[in-house]
Amino acid sequence: MSSRRFWRLVSDIVWTSFSVRISSARPETSVAECGSSGWNPERNRIRPLDRSLCLVQAFVGTTHVACSQDIESDMDELKHECGVAAVYHLSSDTVSPRVPGGSVQRTARLIPPMLLDMQNRGQLAAGFTTFCKDRLQIIDTHKNVGGVAEVFRMNHPPEYQALMDEYEGRAAIGHVRYATCGKDDRSYAQPFERHHIAKAKWFSFAFNGQLANYPELRNEILTTTDFHLTRETDTEIVNHLMSQSLSENARIEPIELLRRLSQKLDGSWNLVFLNAVGQMFVSRDPVGIRPLCYAVEGPLFAAASESVALTHLGFSDDSVKNVPPGHAVIVDGHTVRLEKFAESPRKAHCFFEWIYFANAGSSFDNAGVYLSRKRLGEELAARETLEVDDDLIVVPVPDTAKAAADSMAFSLGVPSLEGLIRNRYIGRTFIESSNRADKVRMKYTPLPEIMDGKRVVLVDDSIVRATTLRELLALLRRRGRASEIHVRIACPPIIAPCFYGIDMSTVSELFAPQHMDGLELTPEIEAKMAADIGADSLKYLPVDAVSRCVGLPSSSLCQACIDTVYPTPAGQRNYNEALKSCGSGRIWENPVAAQS
Ligand code: SF4
Repeated sequence: MSSRRFWRLVSDIVWTSFSVRISSARPETSVAECGSSGWNPERNRIRPLDRSLCLVQAFVGTTHVACSQDIESDMDELKHECGVAAVYHLSSDTVSPRVPGGSVQRTARLIPPMLLDMQNRGQLAAGFTTFCKDRLQIIDTHKNVGGVAEVFRMNHPPEYQALMDEYEGRAAIGHVRYATCGKDDRSYAQPFERHHIAKAKWFSFAFNGQLANYPELRNEILTTTDFHLTRETDTEIVNHLMSQSLSENARIEPIELLRRLSQKLDGSWNLVFLNAVGQMFVSRDPVGIRPLCYAVEGPLFAAASESVALTHLGFSDDSVKNVPPGHAVIVDGHTVRLEKFAESPRKAHCFFEWIYFANAGSSFDNAGVYLSRKRLGEELAARETLEVDDDLIVVPVPDTAKAAADSMAFSLGVPSLEGLIRNRYIGRTFIESSNRADKVRMKYTPLPEIMDGKRVVLVDDSIVRATTLRELLALLRRRGRASEIHVRIACPPIIAPCFYGIDMSTVSELFAPQHMDGLELTPEIEAKMAADIGADSLKYLPVDAVSRCVGLPSSSLCQACIDTVYPTPAGQRNYNEALKSCGSGRIWENPVAAQS
């Protein structure tokens, strides 16, 4: 998980205190003062890398730096996170029927299809580490930038077969990565393998989450030791802390290793770990922000961020279990055991997993993703006040809003039609235009044969900055020829940033806080928001609808980005600091009052 997301989201924290606006003529500080070659005279902006370095310097107490707040931002959508996977074939007289080719050593081949099932969680890079005790490289890692099929050469059977032969093994861990910006190079791809001559100290791991206290941990490492950190990622911090524990005691039990980590880490941090002794663990942070499931059938153990990756392997629904927060599943080649490494002060499952991130085929923490989205649509329908007539149609913004749109339409008794087609193959394709309207046009095709003269209820899953939505509405009117567009959001307003691994902009970039006073959302405010984006009307769901739709009590969900109550101390502190430097009035001026 790249730290760049973190830096973007917490950059408001120190901005006012530490920045001097860069003049249009010349930066007030040199490139060197900003910590890297970040000054870009053509755009007169500082790249995110430099902003993050500035922030690090602020935390480590070095000389003031000057950076611009005017960082270019491109996308409006919520960004996905990462996904992890693990498989282990235990010692057995029989080979699991789920392993291809009837050979235990082919177990590692299960990782690429598992990662494909979680490609929705990250398309930037992918990789796996496999374990084979008879190989010179007992654990060995293949990873690269690109989608899963690309990294594992799945569209080139001979190359795929050669790769799988080279990396065969009875145990493996895997990762798909998303990162906002910055380095897209292989060195940031996971798993992270740390080679060592002592087998117990030779390990590899992959990380899903984000450390909310990354600046402090980085500062501590850089200022209290003579260690050097080579990358800008919280994964390196985890790597360092685990290495430190292992260097003190190579035979440390996994549960003790995790206990020590839990005393240091704040945020979301699910891990899959494998060492050259053949020990594996998969663990979930003490509040369980990100999902993690596992299953054991016969001699085969598997774990993944999303249940769909396990059920597609052939595990029955009954076999798939959630790793409880603060627990780890430890696999030693012969046995599988679930152990607690930390108390769980509360559960805080990210509600956005159900609303947006997760594969609709997944289910975790005893709540199915698809049914949650269906209930969101029913809530929207129950609140709808538009007159239903023959001209009213529901159109989803593809793809994640489709389940909510369909159920809303069904409840209202109006058709749900695909009036907006999304180019599913565009992915991370480079579009040679900096114009947002061009990008929206490339990505979405409105169908006039569906929308011409119609009153369109456009259902979307969320609004982050609204920049893309504005262009989309203009396109719907111009090319789709809709007579009215009523936007319905299957989620409450996003009013605060996420410090737990979801890239959803800084406080000042979010759309909803620009219109809302406190947490209150009135019809008048929604009318102003509608006018802002060019809609005839706009409605959100209320915060209390979320727990009803997910089917879990709000006390076991993280809803910080919609209610500003962060489930960990560092998250709350980051938010409070971000408010101080945002200084734009409204909710941010008095968050305590806003929550009361
Ligand atoms: S702040 Fe929002 S996006 Fe982040 S973990 Fe909490 S609910 Fe999920």
